[in-house]
Amino acid sequence: MESLRVLELYSGIGGMHYALKESGIPGQVVAAIDINTTTNQIYRHNFPDTPLWNKTIEGIPLDDFNKLSFDMILMSPPCQPFTRIGLQGDIHDLRTKSFLYILDVLPRLHKLPRFILLENVKGFESSSARNLLVKTLMECGYTFQEIMVSPTSVGIPNSRLRYFLIAKIATKNISDAHAHPSESDSSELPTDLCPTCPSTCQLEEDMQGGRVLYKLETAADVQQKRNQNSNLSVRQIQDFLEPQMEANLENFLLPPKTLLRYALLLDIVQPSSRRSVCFTKGYGRYVEGTGSVLQSCMETELEKAFTHLEQCSEEEKLKRLMKLKLRYFTPREVANLMGFSQSFCFPEQISTRQQYKALGNSLNVVVVTKLLQTLLS
Ligand code: SAH
Repeated sequence: MESLRVLELYSGIGGMHYALKESGIPGQVVAAIDINTTTNQIYRHNFPDTPLWNKTIEGIPLDDFNKLSFDMILMSPPCQPFTRIGLQGDIHDLRTKSFLYILDVLPRLHKLPRFILLENVKGFESSSARNLLVKTLMECGYTFQEIMVSPTSVGIPNSRLRYFLIAKIATKNISDAHAHPSESDSSELPTDLCPTCPSTCQLEEDMQGGRVLYKLETAADVQQKRNQNSNLSVRQIQDFLEPQMEANLENFLLPPKTLLRYALLLDIVQPSSRRSVCFTKGYGRYVEGTGSVLQSCMETELEKAFTHLEQCSEEEKLKRLMKLKLRYFTPREVANLMGFSQSFCFPEQISTRQQYKALGNSLNVVVVTKLLQTLLS
């Protein structure tokens, strides 16, 4: 197969580029486009040879796109207009403007790209933006599949339920493209990405939707975590941890103030766990709902530390909590859970907070790798 010319839109730190590399599909990113100066520094550090355009997508003329003559688009449009915690401004949100521009440009290109992969948050599937995307794809003669999938479905102990659309130009039978997505053939998908597995997806959704309250949790929450931890098809957290963390431990321990104020809201996992919650851009900065923390000393049982904790004096509370040595996952460990290869690294000037933020906005590379392989198979 000849090398594909790939356009990476909203490139961020290059999650899509890593997935392309991992997929083994011969291809080169002919342009990566993003306006964020921090993520662009990270991208450039890891892909110094890829042309990176620091431009707003909606400001790029059709002709410049034509000149790139690309065969594939990989894109993660801004998700804020579609998240449940956002205002769900959808197509009326200014941040959707660039995406609407892409939909406008697509049918006018000299040559339609053969493949498209789009990633977005849960919520996108019921948006007007999605309806417009589907309409445009059908009018241009693409066949496509829509998939909701989380890394846990590919054996990674991290929840990050996302919407994906993979589209392929129908070369022989254009009318095929008009099949409704629910009628589209999902038999091509590897079973681990099969969209008809509502059990996993439903569980994920419930977990992410409600507040994850450790020790304020319901019996159902406890049972769910137990089920996740006993799912042997998912690897253990310890496989994703940095070796020799002891030397660096102090920098990542939760400070006493945080422990006292937020202990009951933490999502705590252990090296043997087979689950963790989604890492978001506020990880390391805000505690609630931004990602799991790790119990790094196993000498005290978690249950024991938390029993009647609320009745203890501040001093006693702290003593008990400190024993657990609760720490944040390092940016490298978050990157590991998100499937970034060991070659990925941050330039020196990027602070730890910026690293968490950039990772929180990115995607799971293993999931996208599998989807790319499916799309090209
Ligand atoms: N897939 C990326 C993350 C995408 S997040 C990764 O792996 O890191 C969405 C990105 O879109 C952000 O980096 C943001 O800076 C960029 N963006 C938002 N609006 C844009 C626009 N109008 N033009 C170009 N880039 C934009």
